[in-house]
Amino acid sequence: MNKIVRIAIDGPAGAGKSTIAKMLASELGIDYIDTGAMYRAIALKLLRSGTDYSDEEALAELLASTDVDFRGGKVFLDGEDVSSLIRTPEISELASASSTVLAIREKLVELQQAMGMRRSVIMDGRDITTKVLPFAEHKFYLTASVEERARRRALEFAEKGLPCDIEQVKADIEARDYRDTHRKNSPLTITEDSVVVDSTDLSIEEVLGVMKSYIEGGEDASGAEAH
Ligand code: C5P
Repeated sequence: MNKIVRIAIDGPAGAGKSTIAKMLASELGIDYIDTGAMYRAIALKLLRSGTDYSDEEALAELLASTDVDFRGGKVFLDGEDVSSLIRTPEISELASASSTVLAIREKLVELQQAMGMRRSVIMDGRDITTKVLPFAEHKFYLTASVEERARRRALEFAEKGLPCDIEQVKADIEARDYRDTHRKNSPLTITEDSVVVDSTDLSIEEVLGVMKSYIEGGEDASGAEAH
């Protein structure tokens, strides 16, 4: 790909955004940036340091001395690869709660915009189409029913040999969905120019096919399927 192409994907937890984004990035030969992993890295730092994110002064101090980077498919917190440490239910919950705080969002949005300014990238999250890359060439909103998203998350836990209760997974996802869509700062919404892809009854290959047809066909994202 010669010209710069930015692909922005938003959607709720467990919709398959990162799986699809990774595959698309490798097919298109561009970088993938998992912005959720960056919010999770901040949550890990809050947890480790025992910092209360509602304490503005303590938070400002922590953020000023924090470096979060996403490189080669891995997230680095102050130079440490924390990619697997951030995949716990405790961090999911704390990332969701602390990502409502403006100071945290401002810091990460600035880093993410710098990453997507001068090169082709695919980025996924909750505010990519609205705030981080509103000028992206392609915008998608990837979603699925809450039951299907809970089923997929439970499967991931099972594959890692972790115990899980599907009803609890579903309740956690619903709580995060509510918080992500109702928060004051950059709530998750569907932009006018996003293509909505509902993956509930689609295979990964089918989702990939739909998205690629928009990207490669250069179809205007404000077309028929867009909201
Ligand atoms: O995508 P993931 O589940 O890893 O993200 C963790 C949390 O970080 C989400 O529940 C969401 O609240 C927050 N997040 C966000 N904005 C983003 C990406 C993630 O608020 N761009």
